[in-house]
Amino acid sequence: MAETINVLFLASEAEPFVKVGGLADVAGSLPAALRNLSPKMTGGTLLDVRLVIPLHRVIQSESSTLLPVIEFPVYRRGGNLIAQVFERSLDGAPVYFVTGLPFLTATSVYSSDSRQDLEKFTFFSLAALELTRRMGWRPDIVHANDWHTALSLYALRSRRGDAFFAHSAGLITLHNLPFMGGEAGETLASYGLTPVNDETLPRWARTQPLPMGLWAADAIVPVSETYAREILTPEFGCGLQDFLRARADSITGILNGLDVRAWDPQNDKHLAAIFNADDLGGRLENKLALQKKMGLPADARVPLLAVVGRVDEQKGLDLILHALPRLADRPWQFVLLGTGDPKLEAAIRSLQARYPERVQAVLRYDSALSHLIYGGADMLLMPSRYEPCGLAQMIAMRYGCIPVVRATGGLKDTVQEGKTGFVFTRPDVDSLLEAIQRALSVYASAEKWRRFQRNAMKQDFSWTRSARQYALLYRSLVPETG
Ligand code: ADP
Repeated sequence: MAETINVLFLASEAEPFVKVGGLADVAGSLPAALRNLSPKMTGGTLLDVRLVIPLHRVIQSESSTLLPVIEFPVYRRGGNLIAQVFERSLDGAPVYFVTGLPFLTATSVYSSDSRQDLEKFTFFSLAALELTRRMGWRPDIVHANDWHTALSLYALRSRRGDAFFAHSAGLITLHNLPFMGGEAGETLASYGLTPVNDETLPRWARTQPLPMGLWAADAIVPVSETYAREILTPEFGCGLQDFLRARADSITGILNGLDVRAWDPQNDKHLAAIFNADDLGGRLENKLALQKKMGLPADARVPLLAVVGRVDEQKGLDLILHALPRLADRPWQFVLLGTGDPKLEAAIRSLQARYPERVQAVLRYDSALSHLIYGGADMLLMPSRYEPCGLAQMIAMRYGCIPVVRATGGLKDTVQEGKTGFVFTRPDVDSLLEAIQRALSVYASAEKWRRFQRNAMKQDFSWTRSARQYALLYRSLVPETG
């Protein structure tokens, strides 16, 4: 009989329940991809992967489909807090939703008040771990994602003497190193957690959730091979590069996959017309529908450039804002869908005011519109300063929207210059400009452009390969039985 590995998969957000960024895509699709791996692909192992996420307020509003499972106390100085857990199934697997006092007072998934987030996610990490004991379901692997759930690994390590968790290993996927959770000394103390007592971690990091989780993890998984190397350098290591270098043996880069069912140009209800690599006709209809929707002149020939993503300095939007006016003597249009930094949002608005016939931005979250952009725009600009993996460029390629990206992290690992996209190295306006110009020149030849589109659309970004890498890593962390 095949051996089963139990995996407790923890994340702060997951599709289709709640999404802020790429983490939700991953948490919403990797658990199912892991469960669906055949034992042949995993060397005879079955994976029982169970996703646990917080019951954020946006989910609470549609909670009629959730079944109450269990309630139990979580230690907190001055009075235990009650964790309430609900369940529903997704693709045949159970998903658990945890709530309690810290979530009842929070209005958004992430807050600008770091103390509120520390309180929420510390509570969540501890409650999710305790849930397994209450259910009598022993996790062989606790799989955390980013700072929000990192403390589950720290708590796990502190509980090695506890027979229930004695053989549980901890793995953390690192989607974004700079977000560490902040100084958490007080919150940790109120939940009975002590700071890391080990000099391999810089002093400032010993009371921050992400470094504590990295320290406690048996395996660290950055979301691309290039990012796995980059975080060992001072430029990308955020002060943890020496610690991470010392842990290099435990670090394995694994690229995120895409939910290829949710992102499929042949079956996408948000598109004006479906299409595929051999018949790109529908793309034109989508482009015209997109131009119309955005209030831009409908013109099939003008190259339509796009951005979908968080409006953040990380994404290099300032480079785009400086580059586009320098291309004013050539025809192009630009659409942007995203929210974030108010200063950058204001700069986008003023570019739109300067070029109302060319630039239109929608500064909100809009999943349906994002599909139409991928399916209708000609190019996706992603000049990120750093990009651990990046999903938008993979989605774009799957939809024949050619990415123009900076060679960093997962962008470097997924986009091939001259074949599936355009890649530049230095994070400056001139380099971006050159790459856009290269793209525009190729765009001028319909035949050459179609070749790029076909190459891009034929890339395999499904989870299969990466899920298998995770499965093998899980296996290497679980002690041999029998
Ligand atoms: P990050 O995780 O850094 O935000 P990724 O490229 O990995 O960036 O993933 C972003 C995901 O969120 C993609 O699926 C993208 O389509 C989606 N997205 C980002 N902003 C928006 C928005 N304003 N509306 C709809 N989808 C968005």
